[in-house]
Amino acid sequence: MADVRREWFQLQRDLGGDEVIFDAPMDVKAALGSGGKRRTPPPAAPVEPPAMPAIEASTKPKIVRPFGDPNAMWRKDAPPIPGPGLTIVPPADSVARGAVWASLDAVATEIASCRGCPLCEGRTNTVPGEGNPAAKLMCVGEGPGESEDLSGQPFVGRAGDLLNKILESIEVPRPEVYIANIVKCRPPRNRAPLPDERAACLPYLHRQIALVRPKVLLALGGTAAESLLGVKKTLGDLRLRVHSWDGIPLIVTYHPAALLRNPNWKRPAWDDVRIARQLLELDS
Ligand code: SF4
Repeated sequence: MADVRREWFQLQRDLGGDEVIFDAPMDVKAALGSGGKRRTPPPAAPVEPPAMPAIEASTKPKIVRPFGDPNAMWRKDAPPIPGPGLTIVPPADSVARGAVWASLDAVATEIASCRGCPLCEGRTNTVPGEGNPAAKLMCVGEGPGESEDLSGQPFVGRAGDLLNKILESIEVPRPEVYIANIVKCRPPRNRAPLPDERAACLPYLHRQIALVRPKVLLALGGTAAESLLGVKKTLGDLRLRVHSWDGIPLIVTYHPAALLRNPNWKRPAWDDVRIARQLLELDS
């Protein structure tokens, strides 16, 4: 049990949870080891963590709880599902353009030879997206960075590692998710994609969403949120609302790279993904 607890708290600590996710029950320090540098818990009555599932001590935490388990750890103090936000209908011209691509592979093939915007000039590889074609959760980021450009895969490197941990924490392992970006080629020096570049590339993403038809969309970062929702607003304006993209609930949260730069955003991001997680369980 101690090993399981230690692994769980390590995961939470990586996500910033050593300060914010749990209220530091009395035995946390022991579970983390005597060298743990957690803050001293507040003097308020300690809160016992929920019962831990049986997990093989020699491996990383495995998802062993059934979907909808009321005792899942991510539920503890999860915020309620917020009210509705924007309602978006995908542009007709984008839908019409994408209709010719019958599958995710067809979309990726089209992207591989695309020269629809200047970003094609600097790319090593296109990064169309990857994951479960029948995913319930689809994550949308901004665009490939250096590691993604070299590998042809979305969300690798440190930001990708953090995204994987975030997904683990809500018990939706990355292989179950579909992950894509607004633009499929790396912008120079990792700048944000320009409006013309986003507009040129969005029909691919729109078609990917239509083909996967996830139960929930998670927009990672302001660029992804603005581009999907077609508005110019701050991340703060767009968070904590359940938007609707062609009838699919859409939640906005921080980009993992932003969380690496500013750990103070990990707590609100943790709330966002738990809202998304709750939406996954609703009947629809
Ligand atoms: S970013 Fe998109 S539109 Fe631009 S060249 Fe790459 S695939 Fe084509």
